Order: sequence, then C-alpha cells, then structure tokens
Amino acid sequence: MRTVYLNGEYLPETEAKVSIFDRAFLMADGVYEVTSVLGGKLIDFDGHIARLERSLRELDMEKPAAFDDLLAIHRELVRRNGIDDGLVYLQITRGAAADRDFVFPDPEQVEPTLVLFTQSKPGPADNPAAEKGIKVISIDDLRWARRDIKTVQLLYPSMGKMMARRAGVDDAWLVEDGHVTEGTSNNAYIVTGNRIVTRQLSSDILSGITRAAVLRLAREAQMEVEERPFTIAEAQAADEAFITSASAFVMPVVEIDGARLGHGTPGPVARRLRDIYLDESRKAAI
Ligand code: PMP
Repeated sequence: MRTVYLNGEYLPETEAKVSIFDRAFLMADGVYEVTSVLGGKLIDFDGHIARLERSLRELDMEKPAAFDDLLAIHRELVRRNGIDDGLVYLQITRGAAADRDFVFPDPEQVEPTLVLFTQSKPGPADNPAAEKGIKVISIDDLRWARRDIKTVQLLYPSMGKMMARRAGVDDAWLVEDGHVTEGTSNNAYIVTGNRIVTRQLSSDILSGITRAAVLRLAREAQMEVEERPFTIAEAQAADEAFITSASAFVMPVVEIDGARLGHGTPGPVARRLRDIYLDESRKAAI
C-alpha cells in the first residue's frame, strides 16, 4: 500500500481523509503540480514549484505551512514508496470551510489542504508510444479563460480524452478561433524543416515546465523556434508534430484528424528533442 502525505502527516493511502466541505471537492478550488521521477530523482522540480507559487498567487490562495518543506516531502514520498520511475502529484486546496459558500473563507481561520502522493510508472523513458507516435483529433477548446493557472478543474480535458478514445485515437488538440491552443494535458508543436512552431505564452495556455526546457534545448541545438498560433490545416501540412508534458516528456504526433504527417512515423526533430530532453533532465534531476 502506498504512503501518501496529507497536511503534515505521512499516512497509508486508505487512512488519508479530506473533508466533504473541502473547496476542491465542492468547487474545484485547488491547484496542482505533477513532477516526474526518473531513476528516483525529481525532474524540473524548481520550475514546478515556481509555477505552483504563481498559481496560488493568481487565486489569492495561501501557502500551506509546510510549503518550504515541499522538496523534503517529495523526496520522502519517493523514498518511502520506492519510486524509481513515476511521478509525484501535489495538490493544494483552499481548505474546508464550515459550510458551502462561494465567498472565499478567511485564511486566518481556514488552513489550505496539502496532499501529495506518488504513482509508479516503470520505464516511461522507453515508452513504446514514443516509437510509434500518437494520433490526435481536434476539438473545440471549451475551457475557462485562465488556462495559465493550473487548477484541478479538469472536466473538459477529461471529456476531451474520452472524445479521443471514442474516435480511436490517443489525445485531442484544442482549437479556439481557428488556432490550436494546446493538448488536453500537454503543449502542442509542429515542425517544418528546422523550425519549431508552438503557441506563445498567455492566459490561453498553461506555461508548460517541459515546454520551457524543450524550447531552451532546441535553441541551444540551433533549431529555430517560432512562438505563434497555428491552425490544424498548417499542422496537417507540417513535416512533424509533437507534444510535451512532465509525464510524456516529448511525444511525437503522427496523425491529426485522420491526416498522416510525413511518413506517419516519428520525425527526426521530435526524436532528437526527446533524447536531448531525457538526457539533460536526468543530468539535472535532484
Ligand atoms: N497544458 C496543459 C493543459 C496541461 O495540463 C499540461 C500538463 N500539466 C501541460 C500543458 C504541460 O505542462 P508540463 O510540461 O508542466 O507538464
């Protein structure tokens, strides 16, 4: 059985209980981060914590008392659960007020809830999907307009994954005003020649921690990076496409709305970036 962390305590997963009045349960009033673990070490930890602090700030949410201990808690959970490859999930909610009320509770009276747990995922770096590439469909982006905040309000992304599954593919790209915003749980890229195109940062998309690392590595490898919106038609005509996220790393996309890209197999840029990202991440892991 897993050991999880809840508000200062390490507990067996079956003993960790949160109130039915917790605002994340009632109102999706919570933020989260997912940090990958490779070889027992945390990938891009500082970036995830910096984004977490920003999410909290944007929502006027207090940091829990244990905030400064987050690295130690991550490491302790990895150790206690013997995680070699996998992830650490962290969630902070605005806590449990006495009653259901739209108005935020007084932070002097209601402590945030802090939850962390691990998931083991052996061999993610050798994921066979990366050899084949994934297929996506496009769907309307019907999410709220503050996608730069990483909230636990994940119903639409979840519905998007189900639409993809029903269409017999792996994931969905979200389209707004004719342009791709991002994937349901990842950032989206297309490649033409040596040029990588991905949407610029704004409140339309989540500022991916993997995105930041991959774009930096791409520029260091003398690839061209253009940050601007692109259409599905442009993506279908591109040489390659891929997605990035903390759990998928760099994952080639080989089909968009039924149109095969290039030869229908992962392209050289996506492959190279995946290799570079995994190498560099392992070296920098803490
Ligand atoms: N966009 C969305 C909507 C996501 O949910 C995620 C995954 N958290 C990402 C992008 C990728 O972010 P990261 O690289 O930090 O995992």
